[in-house]
Amino acid sequence: MDNYAHFMNKDAVKDADRAHVFHSWSAQELIDPLAVAGAEGSYFWDYDGNRFLDFSSALVYTNIGYQHPKVVAAIQEQAARMCTVAPGFAVDVRSEAARLIAERTPSDLDKVFFTNGGAEAVENAVRMARLHTGRPKVLAAYRSYHGATATAINLTGDARRFGNDSATAGVVHFWGPFLYRSPFHATTEAEECERALRHLEDTVVFEGPQSVAAIVLETVGGAPGVLVPPAGYLAGVREICDRHGIVFVLDEVMVGFGRTGRWFAADHWEVTPDLLTFAKGVNSGYVPLGGVAISGAIAETFARRPYPGGLTYSGHPLACAAAVATITTMAEEGIVEQSARTGAELLGPGLRALAARHPSVGEVRGLGTFWALELVRDPGTREPLVPYAAAGAANAPMAAFADACKKGGLWPLTAGNRIHIAPPCTIAPEDVARGLEILDGALSVADAHMA
Ligand code: PMP
Repeated sequence: MDNYAHFMNKDAVKDADRAHVFHSWSAQELIDPLAVAGAEGSYFWDYDGNRFLDFSSALVYTNIGYQHPKVVAAIQEQAARMCTVAPGFAVDVRSEAARLIAERTPSDLDKVFFTNGGAEAVENAVRMARLHTGRPKVLAAYRSYHGATATAINLTGDARRFGNDSATAGVVHFWGPFLYRSPFHATTEAEECERALRHLEDTVVFEGPQSVAAIVLETVGGAPGVLVPPAGYLAGVREICDRHGIVFVLDEVMVGFGRTGRWFAADHWEVTPDLLTFAKGVNSGYVPLGGVAISGAIAETFARRPYPGGLTYSGHPLACAAAVATITTMAEEGIVEQSARTGAELLGPGLRALAARHPSVGEVRGLGTFWALELVRDPGTREPLVPYAAAGAANAPMAAFADACKKGGLWPLTAGNRIHIAPPCTIAPEDVARGLEILDGALSVADAHMA
């Protein structure tokens, strides 16, 4: 701790941050980051003693909560044994992490390519799909987020790609299903599913199936607002991919490892992609780690032909030790099941009760510890509470809502007109109740901003 002796007060921390840290997604002089002093379980706190119940799980990744003692101990033990070793060697901790992951991914996704995070996983999944098929194009949904590196941000359909246009050739966007704001003017889930699949197949046919390497989809859309696909959609995408020889990539960076109440969100619909990307929950982000789980057929492509890609820190021992401890602890302590129960018994009913009391809540969606409230100006027209990609004054209603949460001791995650509810999968029932109570008060602020 001696290294931080001069940082014993928040002003020193904030001054050095302002002078030297360049923050992501931000105008550097227009932000005022909270100085965080510590974290444990579902809470973190600042230097003034304010404790925040974290309904954002950092950036939806502390599935096991902050500072889980078993994961902390595993990192410490690995640091004492072997902090690092080059990625080309076989090493026990990496072998074990890969085995535990492969054991849980669907079907024959039995090989793991390790990365340092989600975007790199998506980059490599796209590279594998292009090399496997020999085709150039990649299809992704408008309502999606896949990361901030060149290919991943171009695949991303949401407004964050706007400042990064067309770094990658061959990306084509399509509309996925979203009944509440149906791009297909559907009125039932079945209709939405059927029309979304027809639209996707048409997109493939008009792009030329012989040129489409991959369809990349979030199993449940995360950043775009917890978009749970209708029954039959993912199976339908699987069929389209099979019909046209296209690689099906499911991006489970945000939803893998218990977030939706199953190890992988794909398990809800029993669908198997050819490639599955993961990060975040794999070790709750204690040390950066991501990866791609690879099918037998795609692994075979690179059995006798070198894979032209790699990363210096691929399968880093400290990150893998954290993954081994996280996965075994989640299994031993029933944390995936806990996430499912919390959703079914507490968060789902609790959020629906809030929606019934607050007219600004247009829709409640989610499963496990992964939910969103869609806020509207008018429930009849479903006009969003703030316009798409609103910033500054246009975003004032959402900013006011977030402030009310923070004043109440809840750290919220908002995106566009949505409140995302993603506490650690380990959240205690009394903390769910407490969070819902704070949300109840803050939603009155949102109600006051309606038309
Ligand atoms: N894919 C999805 C579905 C994500 O939610 C994210 C991050 N939120 C990413 C990819 C990118 O991950 P990272 O920020 O670790 O690169």
